[in-house]
Amino acid sequence: MRAAFFEVANTITVREAPDPEPTPGNVRLKVTYCGICGSDLTVFKTGALAGPGVVLGHELSATVDLDPDGGWAPGTRVTVFPARGCGECTWCRAGYPRYCLTPPYSEWGGYADYTVFPANNLIRLPDALDDRVAALAEPFGVGLRAVDLADAQEGDLAYVSGLGPIGLFAAAGLVSAGCRVVGADPREERRELATKLGVTETFDPTARDPHTTLFGIDPRGPRIAFEASGMPDSLQKVVDSCGPGGVVGVLGVPMAPVFLLRMFVGELRAFSLAGPSRESMARALELLQERPEIGGVITGTVPLSGTEEAFRRLVAGDGGVKVLVQPSL
Ligand SMILES: [Zn+2]
Ligand SMILES: [Zn+2]
Repeated sequence: MRAAFFEVANTITVREAPDPEPTPGNVRLKVTYCGICGSDLTVFKTGALAGPGVVLGHELSATVDLDPDGGWAPGTRVTVFPARGCGECTWCRAGYPRYCLTPPYSEWGGYADYTVFPANNLIRLPDALDDRVAALAEPFGVGLRAVDLADAQEGDLAYVSGLGPIGLFAAAGLVSAGCRVVGADPREERRELATKLGVTETFDPTARDPHTTLFGIDPRGPRIAFEASGMPDSLQKVVDSCGPGGVVGVLGVPMAPVFLLRMFVGELRAFSLAGPSRESMARALELLQERPEIGGVITGTVPLSGTEEAFRRLVAGDGGVKVLVQPSL
């Protein structure tokens, strides 16, 4: 098979590799689509957290190729819950494989013709959902889990800073929860995409002050404020723009210190998250069927050989929003 290996910072090469052999408890999948995630871009830019010689990619739609245990029939259409745990440690047994104390090493992700995932991580796709949109289940599941953690209620004013994939998915989830959503992003095409997902007001945070804009809409300010841009100064502005008693969600990774005076004065709560839950991914699959416009977050599809170029363009900021790698192209 062919696979796109992450070598070192800024380098991904497509090479031939032996088909991955699933050990008991694991299933070989034929990749249909694999979405490029912001976390993969961080690895690509910095060279940190993974590699060398690994295949990245965890936003999959795929078909079962081989299950040595026979539980999954070949051809079954699936997506995967990405967190692999040992299954034995105290966190895994409590249902939190993301916090696994001894996570198993795997070099196989989704930017390849074939990949291997634990059988327990597979989630069957609904018949009515097409494979392309189904590759959004994981990142949309992150957005929906953020909406849950914020305890979004009908009628809440919610602010989303940064309308890349995760910001857009969170915004779509907030809209589904009945919130009035205000979104900010310097790029007009991203603001337009947010409007199509039901965001009622958008603005350019480099041209207008978020706090003034949001408190102009409601003097109580937003009850929910999400940072999803990853820009260094954005979390500070999000904390400073959240209404008293509200909740701040850290969905991006802004690498800058934050001064928490307003958090203290306004008695804010905050949370972060690093992935979806199985439950939020299941809900994402349902909502993707009910709200086909969410598929509009996908702005492009590239062949395996175009993986590095797609990464470069996304890092440079002119690569679109959500780009999928399609090995069959
Ligand atoms: Zn992801
Ligand atoms: Zn574990």
